[in-house]
Amino acid sequence: MSSILPYYPISEYYKNKYGQKVYKLPIKLSLTCPNRDGEAGFGGCIFCSESGGSFENLPSFFTVEKQLEINKNYIGSKYKVKKFIAYFQNFSNTYMDYEKFKEVICACNKNYIIAISISTRSDCITEKKLEFLEDFSKNTGIDIIIELGLQTANYKSLKILNRCEDLADFIKACNIIKKYNFNICTHVILSLPWDEKIDIIETARILNVLAVDEVKIHSLYIVKNTKLANMYKNNEFRMPRKEDYKNNVIIFLRYLNKNIAIQRLVGRAPSEDTIFCNWNSSWWVIRDEIIADMNENGFSQGDLSQKKKYNILEGE
Ligand code: SF4
Repeated sequence: MSSILPYYPISEYYKNKYGQKVYKLPIKLSLTCPNRDGEAGFGGCIFCSESGGSFENLPSFFTVEKQLEINKNYIGSKYKVKKFIAYFQNFSNTYMDYEKFKEVICACNKNYIIAISISTRSDCITEKKLEFLEDFSKNTGIDIIIELGLQTANYKSLKILNRCEDLADFIKACNIIKKYNFNICTHVILSLPWDEKIDIIETARILNVLAVDEVKIHSLYIVKNTKLANMYKNNEFRMPRKEDYKNNVIIFLRYLNKNIAIQRLVGRAPSEDTIFCNWNSSWWVIRDEIIADMNENGFSQGDLSQKKKYNILEGE
């Protein structure tokens, strides 16, 4: 772990693994997800925008090659980076025909790509596609990372979020992916109004048991024209305070295994697309406050992860 940061940042993980700075190149495909088309559910997760999860992509009608090339030229020169991770970001990127899946993965076989990160749902993991990825990785030397949204271990919150998948689905998917030795990155939201401290801790502990490799932490932001936006306008829930979010991130990190790399501490979305985002603070201000708070108190990632028992009523 870094001597400066009280957590294990993904940048350090990349440097340890690849010996240099690495950036992601986002790719948007023209897709949907089984929680939108009726396969698992209708309407999608209540927080999900029409774009399927990200706001900073090139149009999906651009080919994979074109998106990679444009983003590489822009990000590479801006950050002086030579190696990249192709990042299939929006919607469920294993939810497509097998031949199409092979085609988009093979389009990433470039000398500047060292890994491919595939964002998807737990119920869209199939051994057939993983077997193809295993062969592809062996033949090209390109690493594979599977990104799965868990959001929370609290099944009551998952139901309100209309995830239409649960913790058991996530555990099952992780167990399958681990057979292939691919990295797993998990997304969690640590300001869900329906979660308590105990849910935050339990989420961290489950990720430890499953030995996921990376975690991306989000704050809950409210995108315009979503079910969540309607609920917010109708006062159906109250957003946690910024202080609550910071405390949740800190307790989550303290219970999380110190070897799990952290992709980010705070989510972000453009203000023009949201009616609530990060308590009107910049994401990096919140990140810096979390870091300062942890350092002041002598807290670090994983410092509570070895606790044999914790008080389930008090959540500590
Ligand atoms: S599973 Fe992902 S893409 Fe599908 S509705 Fe939920 S957040 Fe959006």
